[in-house]
Amino acid sequence: MGNDSGSDSGVDDGIHDIASVIKEFADQPIWYGGQRHPGEAPAIAVRNPANEDVLSDLASASTEQVDAALAAARDAQYAWNRSGPSARSTLLHDMAKVLRDNAEVLAEVVMAESGKTWEMSHADVEVGAVMLDLNAEWALRIEGEILPSDTPTEEITIRREPLGVVVAICPWNWALTIACRKIGPALVTGNTVVVKPSEVPPLSTVLAMKLWHENLEIPPGVLNLVTGGGEVGKALVTNPISAMVSFTGHRDTGKRIMETASGTLTRVALELGSKAPAIVLKDADLDKAVPTLVQSRFWCAGEFCNATERILVERPIVDEFIKRYTAAVSELKVGDPRENPDFGPLANGAHYEKVDGAVQKARSEGATVATGGGRPEGADFEKGYWYAPTVITDVTEDMSIMRDETFGPVVPVLAVDSAEHAIEIANSSRYGLAAYLWTSSYASAMTVSRDLEVGEVFINRGSGEALHAHHGGHKESGYGGEDGKHGMVKYTQLKVVYHNW
Ligand code: NAD
Repeated sequence: MGNDSGSDSGVDDGIHDIASVIKEFADQPIWYGGQRHPGEAPAIAVRNPANEDVLSDLASASTEQVDAALAAARDAQYAWNRSGPSARSTLLHDMAKVLRDNAEVLAEVVMAESGKTWEMSHADVEVGAVMLDLNAEWALRIEGEILPSDTPTEEITIRREPLGVVVAICPWNWALTIACRKIGPALVTGNTVVVKPSEVPPLSTVLAMKLWHENLEIPPGVLNLVTGGGEVGKALVTNPISAMVSFTGHRDTGKRIMETASGTLTRVALELGSKAPAIVLKDADLDKAVPTLVQSRFWCAGEFCNATERILVERPIVDEFIKRYTAAVSELKVGDPRENPDFGPLANGAHYEKVDGAVQKARSEGATVATGGGRPEGADFEKGYWYAPTVITDVTEDMSIMRDETFGPVVPVLAVDSAEHAIEIANSSRYGLAAYLWTSSYASAMTVSRDLEVGEVFINRGSGEALHAHHGGHKESGYGGEDGKHGMVKYTQLKVVYHNW
């Protein structure tokens, strides 16, 4: 994992004293008008989930600082829009390069604040860089339209224009990636941005912001960041300068944001939670389905939005599936993130309580914990937010473990009578982000994927969306939709101009 010092080239090549690195950038975490600022509101402790040590007491932004960040973004926006697509594309590519040049130190910070394995921590940085690169490539492809007019001397054009100031409110999982997923399309389309990372793991985004501003000539006010929790988020949404709130997080927070934004009719894009079903039909290839469904639930401790949250297996193969699946899950290794186990600790204490609460509730409702079901055994796991990979059987479709999002390394398995029965149970959820389907029948693949009320279907494969495609939910998994062309245009609005000469 690199050596003790950074290189003279400015390209970091590994660091171990992460505490002093964090201290150096966390004392002035807020950025607006091209300047760093110390927080003026009370600090929130950021903990290492592997041992509960406090990594930083990170000061939050005051309401005045939130307003100042939004005002700086508004003042910079016209000039940024006039800067032209090539300049914006170049900046985004340069920002991606800064992330890659500093991948070691950023990944160290991701790992310390989130408990992600070393490999996943690097992925958080690299996928963030890819998000910026992919959006940079849209710069020269944003097109308008020319329409005929009834007036012979007139031409009608429809332009795609920026919205103004975009507020990017981010969750605790994949913090850096998701910040870049919003910054990229917002900036490339000519908006300026105020980012609010989650209060739980804000450090990697704060460090990225410092690296971007120190290494690149970003016009003051174009890219801003405020720290803090829900109150800071609410202050951002309430301020009429905010033209769009791009939010990823919990469904209930999304509903609150929508309510607040209604006061100013501010546009909202909501990427919310999920209860993704995996349907395993009786003609599925279990040799492939079992390991792949282990991946799609337990990768990254299950802390990703489109993970498999419940498995529906056709009755003739359910016993065989449970036997093989439980055996595979009990082989998963939980441990020190540096050693690249299958997963490390859960990301934070509140999340640990939520995951464990869901499992204990399932037990009390009569379900069986086939493997896992609590903290793994051993001295290494006494402190920190460790959770054993857990499979739950003997469930009924109305149990909360089958209905509420767990977002952790826990999955219930239910027998179903047919594909139609599986679709009915899958669609009974108010969520509709993703679904998985295992079958060897093309006809079943076509009909089931058509009837599922979700935004993305993975047939005979694990998780991991194509970053140039589209990611977004149906129903209470939100609306907005990110990535690719359809995600990018959400950050624009149309203007029609009549040219009469
Ligand atoms: P959360 O809703 O608790 O917090 C998300 C952000 O909202 C944080 O920055 C928080 O400070 C802020 N916030 C809280 N109250 C607010 C308010 N009233 N106004 C404005 N901002 C407010 O979510 P979380 O626990 O950080 O994230 C986990 C959730 O995110 C899960 O439900 C998961 O499924 C979802 N998620 C969805 C996607 C997706 O693409 N659909 C991706 C990742 C995570």
